[in-house]
Amino acid sequence: MEAGDCRYQFRIALLGDAAVGKTSLLRRYVEGGPGTPEPEPEPESAPTVGVEFYSRALQLRAGPRVKLQLWDTAGQERFRCITRSFYRNVVGVLLVFDMTNRKSFEHIRDWHQEVMATQGPDKAIFLLVGHKSDLQSTRCVSAEEAEELAASLGMAFMETSAKDNCNVDLAFDTLAGTIQQAL
Ligand code: GDP
Ligand code: MG
Repeated sequence: MEAGDCRYQFRIALLGDAAVGKTSLLRRYVEGGPGTPEPEPEPESAPTVGVEFYSRALQLRAGPRVKLQLWDTAGQERFRCITRSFYRNVVGVLLVFDMTNRKSFEHIRDWHQEVMATQGPDKAIFLLVGHKSDLQSTRCVSAEEAEELAASLGMAFMETSAKDNCNVDLAFDTLAGTIQQAL
């Protein structure tokens, strides 16, 4: 689908601690449908600095075509020094934690706060994402407590895996659908 056909453009940011899988999730969504090979892992030793964005057009169910402009932090989340311009005009945020990393879950409130502090009167729509759902045997955040956190912050919760391509499309589609309903 040509992005030029789209009536709306939604700017969406992915936020969360380093190594939770944000870039993998994005690449899976943008590049990979079912049956495609696992995306190349990011080289752990060389985090790129700056901001990167990807885009994908999407036909909303019973709605218009939209272009998602997907913004990824590229290393700065490690130092919590994300430039304010990253948040400018963001209408949706995927707050991502790694379900095998307790700290990344505990930091979700901080990431949420950081976005809220940069928002104008039009508040962004959030979705809480528990990533790496393929690693059930080492998971240390239960679905119940994640649901509870999401509810207390006024957002939905979803579990995803870029490795197994589980719920990846659904997560972005759900966020885009919620944004559209709020327009
Ligand atoms: P980012 O720093 O949040 O952008 O995280 P990356 O996308 O660079 O991923 C960090 C590490 O987690 C890499 O080694 C990825 O291969 C791995 N990873 C990403 N997604 C998944 C997943 O769904 N399952 C598993 N098991 N590993 C993943
Ligand atoms: Mg990354």
